[in-house]
Amino acid sequence: MTKQIWREQSKNHASLQDFTEIKAYHGDSEKLFRLHIPEFFKNNIDFTNSSDPLLMQVLPSIDEIKTVKDFSDDPVGDLKSKKSKGVIHKYKGRVLLIATGSCAINCRYCFRRSFPYSQNNASANNWSSAIDYISNNSDLHEVILSGGDPLMLSTKVLSNFTTQLNNIEHIKTLRIHTRIPLVNPSRITDKFIKWLDGIHLKKVMVLHSNHPKELHPELKTTLNKVASTQTLLLNQSVLLKGINDNAKTLSQLSFKLFEFGVLPYYLNQLDKVQGAAHFQVTNKQAKRIHRELLATLPGYLVPKLVEEIPGKKNKSPLN
Ligand code: SF4
Repeated sequence: MTKQIWREQSKNHASLQDFTEIKAYHGDSEKLFRLHIPEFFKNNIDFTNSSDPLLMQVLPSIDEIKTVKDFSDDPVGDLKSKKSKGVIHKYKGRVLLIATGSCAINCRYCFRRSFPYSQNNASANNWSSAIDYISNNSDLHEVILSGGDPLMLSTKVLSNFTTQLNNIEHIKTLRIHTRIPLVNPSRITDKFIKWLDGIHLKKVMVLHSNHPKELHPELKTTLNKVASTQTLLLNQSVLLKGINDNAKTLSQLSFKLFEFGVLPYYLNQLDKVQGAAHFQVTNKQAKRIHRELLATLPGYLVPKLVEEIPGKKNKSPLN
């Protein structure tokens, strides 16, 4: 990330002072995974409501310091599938790049909250390890930029990558996993849109929203700009106890996403990362909620309910 982008992002972060009372109550858990919230997201939080669905996603909890059986620091086996610096190859035809370790927001349930980013950064050394791996594996057709959040990188750094990627004939699709357009829409600058528009690959942007309250009316304009670059917009959510663990909320989320030009893609069961067990919804509950969604929504608005099992060659549907 360039210094310029860092300064831009920093300006948008809530002052930690705003959270002093909450932190005093919640104690040490914040030291493990720091509190990090962009101003735009913070402005939509109702601080008078301790159950506010946005607040609950970002507020450190004392529950995070409990060690829970069957939970680990690498719950989806990322490190076992590492092929090169920041290059994770699990699934046929697709490779995932850990583009950066930074995020605009720290989500308390994040499955990479303990990921060793410093040794796994694909954008380091001008993307050279990643580009070598992709060039040498002709069975790949899709590259996924993930992180951290790849949009924390400057447009110049992203552009450097896609210029190199454009020269690799077997790559047909670029996918970007990002939460930034929803939590810090000012990052979606004209320069960024111009870059995206200029990429001559199929483009997919997978957003991450868990609750309809995250879809502020202002975001419609931002997402329209992204869609104008012929980028398919999808959304993935994580099923989170106390936040979206009911069909009514998820149904509202699906309708709102559609209104904003985004299709629901995945509803992920929580990855069992140490520190996030208090967000877990049982498989039985998850399936019941999903059945209700199927009975309520048109098929194209029902996200696939899935879990990631380490070592499996695909996400596993929970039926
Ligand atoms: S934005 Fe994504 S990668 Fe970053 S903390 Fe949230 S869930 Fe994790």
